[in-house]
Amino acid sequence: MTAAPSPADLRTLSERLRARHRELRAEIRAQFADHDDPELMALRNRLEDTDDWAVADAMAGLDIAMVARDIAEIAEVEAALKRMADGRYGRCVTCDEPIPSARLHAYPAAARCIRCQEAAERKGPAVAAP
Ligand SMILES: [Zn+2]
Repeated sequence: MTAAPSPADLRTLSERLRARHRELRAEIRAQFADHDDPELMALRNRLEDTDDWAVADAMAGLDIAMVARDIAEIAEVEAALKRMADGRYGRCVTCDEPIPSARLHAYPAAARCIRCQEAAERKGPAVAAP
């Protein structure tokens, strides 16, 4: 049997998700800092002004593979934090079974149990998740 994450686990995992979120945002900012393309600068300023990461989707069309990966991971981290706030964190979004806490510690943003994750990966264009 797999136990749902304990409150102490949740605190640790929530801290790690928040830390990862900050790290990813810093990484994305650093990426932009290397460019002096006015269009990118404008986008970056908008991101900093609005703090609206939906705007970041607009950048998916740009050929910046790393930023695109970071943005995808930020979306996963934000979804995990939202599930935490909703009290749904630690349960598979597909089958609603508890996700083993070892998996959560290995990958705090995990949305699915390993079985459903593997099924999802077999099905289609790989969702980026270990
Ligand atoms: Zn599942």
